[in-house]
Amino acid sequence: MTESYPPDPLLQMSLRVEQDIFLVRQRGREVAAAVGLENQDQVRLATALSEVARDLLQAVDGADVTFTVDVGAPTGRPVLRVDLAPVRPLPGGRYEPQSGAVARLVDRLAVVADEGDTVVRMSRRVPAHAPALPPERLAELRAELASSAPGTALDELAAQNGQLIAALDEVRSHRDELEVLNSELQETNRGVMALYNQLTEELEETNRGVVALYAELDEKSAQLRAASESKSRFLANVSHELRAPVTAIIGLARLLADSASDPLTAEQAQQVGLIRSSADDLLSLVNELLDLAKAESGRIEPNWAEVDLRAVFGQLRGTLRALATRPEVELVVEEPAAHATVRSDEVLLAQVLRNLLHNGLKFTERGEVRLRAERRNDSWWLAVSDTGVGIPPELHERVFEEFYQVPGAVRVGGTGLGLPYARRLVKLLGGTLELSSEPGRGSTFTVILPVGGA
Ligand code: ADP
Repeated sequence: MTESYPPDPLLQMSLRVEQDIFLVRQRGREVAAAVGLENQDQVRLATALSEVARDLLQAVDGADVTFTVDVGAPTGRPVLRVDLAPVRPLPGGRYEPQSGAVARLVDRLAVVADEGDTVVRMSRRVPAHAPALPPERLAELRAELASSAPGTALDELAAQNGQLIAALDEVRSHRDELEVLNSELQETNRGVMALYNQLTEELEETNRGVVALYAELDEKSAQLRAASESKSRFLANVSHELRAPVTAIIGLARLLADSASDPLTAEQAQQVGLIRSSADDLLSLVNELLDLAKAESGRIEPNWAEVDLRAVFGQLRGTLRALATRPEVELVVEEPAAHATVRSDEVLLAQVLRNLLHNGLKFTERGEVRLRAERRNDSWWLAVSDTGVGIPPELHERVFEEFYQVPGAVRVGGTGLGLPYARRLVKLLGGTLELSSEPGRGSTFTVILPVGGA
């Protein structure tokens, strides 16, 4: 609903003498209260009004004051408008309030041209929650304001005093609140700072810990490396030193048993035989230790070449036949496809496969031990499978540890060094050695080698 423009004024009065300033102020406040401005805003508007009234009285000897409610304002909310039409033209057609703060007390304070006349206009929006102002209500207000008698200047002074005291109280309580807030803020600030300091300290502490930990780790791994190197060196030295005397013992035993030497009694012959076989065992242990130490210290340099798997398999078939002595166990070395080649070291590869086949034959009582080659993408899978005792899953990694032998398994000789050595060699050749096995079902050791070598 839009009110026709210009709307009827709510109240009109004239400002001509000093006393009128009080009246204008008082009535301004009344009108503000009547249209629903809040207490603070009533005081603001009244204050602005009395300031402007004082200015105009001094500058142009007074003005005609009109209060209007503009309900069709563009903001959509009613606006209380106060027009002060000067008695004489404003000097230069302009007006500036004496106090700059006055303009801030209302929404708008400006000099406007109203139907050819220049008026000083101030306006203030009526808050949204104020009661509605339909034309009937405005008419009512108009009547009320017309009938209420304006008080005296003294009344207004008393009212003004009251307002001042209330304003001061408010300021004081604001200040108290501010002080409380301030001290709370300082308290919080101190808390935050303390927390920050504590966190920084903890962070530094943790940092120092981590740094120390790393240093320790570095040191430990250096120690481990050194320990492992000295172990390999020790093994290599000891086995090297042992080889000569053990070989000498074997030679002497062979001499003693030789038919060209003095004949031995049956008992002596048996004892010499024992010495000989023990020395043989010792020599193979020493040799294996030496091999392992060499592989670990990285002193084995593979002799890289294009290796024909058929040739390697054929050679193994020939040499291992002698070992496959049990009639219940068949040794099957499958024939690899023609042109099955891998870039590798033929001697080392044959050594690994021989070792695995030998193990298969040792730990299989019946069935078969089989070697076959399968090409999968860029690798060769060379699998040695048997139908022997098998290895429990929890020991699948342990059998690759030095000297480890599955407990309770049939003792068939050996040192527990074959598998760790085989794994070392396969690694040197750029591949991996995997095991899958189930107790009672047999085992499969698979050498996986990249076709193109390491
Ligand atoms: P060795 O054969 O000299 O004892 P290895 O390192 O070659 O040493 O093997 C370690 C252990 O792993 C063997 O003692 C045996 O208990 C187990 N093992 C190896 N190969 C097989 C296999 N094919 N079947 C069952 N057990 C095996």
